[in-house]
Amino acid sequence: MRLFNVLFEWKAALYEKKIAKMQAQGKCPDCNGIGANPLIMHEFAYIDRYDCPGCNGSGLFSDWAKVNGRHS
Ligand SMILES: [Zn+2]
Repeated sequence: MRLFNVLFEWKAALYEKKIAKMQAQGKCPDCNGIGANPLIMHEFAYIDRYDCPGCNGSGLFSDWAKVNGRHS
């Protein structure tokens, strides 16, 4: 299916663009530098903060790059 390939490449290109942008700002692309996963932040989340698995909760691009095996 050609359409799926185009969609996949478009998404991958968007993701790479975001990574480049976050790298320039020194922020983790997964949590935008917050250090916590925003998807988990609902009314019950105040009990304990859910650290972002991409950067181990630091919100730094350098940590994200280490975890994901990328060179910064
Ligand atoms: Zn993160």
